[in-house]
Amino acid sequence: MSPVSCAGCGGPDVALCEGCRRRLVPEVVRVDLPGGLPVFAGLVYAFEARGVVLAFKNAGRVRLAETLAPALAAALESCAHHATTDAASAGDGFSADGSLLVVPVPASRRGRRRRGYDPVELVLRRLGLVVGVPVLVPTVRAGGGQKGRDRQQRLRGREGSLRATRDLQGSHVVLVDDVVTTGATLQEARRAVVARGAVVVGAACLAATPLRSATGSP
Ligand SMILES: [Zn+2]
Repeated sequence: MSPVSCAGCGGPDVALCEGCRRRLVPEVVRVDLPGGLPVFAGLVYAFEARGVVLAFKNAGRVRLAETLAPALAAALESCAHHATTDAASAGDGFSADGSLLVVPVPASRRGRRRRGYDPVELVLRRLGLVVGVPVLVPTVRAGGGQKGRDRQQRLRGREGSLRATRDLQGSHVVLVDDVVTTGATLQEARRAVVARGAVVVGAACLAATPLRSATGSP
């Protein structure tokens, strides 16, 4: 049997130690992206929570989907609450009887190939929220590699990297992603669904960095 270590702190003999488990109790933070996109995150992407999310995303520890599901559930709940209160009063046209369309941001083709799974999809499935036919898919682009580009080029390079697969006229969308750092992927996801007629009420994610460096605060 292979040795196991805590996904959060690396401690021996447990998949997740008690201390780290306690650090994963959701505490929703809100980050507003430029252009007025509110992002609700179940966890702050730092310390043990960051370790657990990374182990889940990149180290094949798929069973952590269960551990992380409450964080996304809390974020989704806050986003839905925002949609029926603030967003509705700001005239985004959402009524309490309308329903929200949960739209996962897809992993890149390369990321999915490398991991063999889509982290966002796994957590949504834990929550019983699997969307059948994907609304957003990565586009196929000629010469599309991001490798060797600097950060600014990578951010610009995201534009056009996603497309919506169907008409979304009249839909109120909640975008869902795993980790939000610069927010560039979410901005691209918003562009893609708005292009097909959707209103985006906000985004929900597992974890977000408390301070963003890329687009900067004033
Ligand atoms: Zn630990």
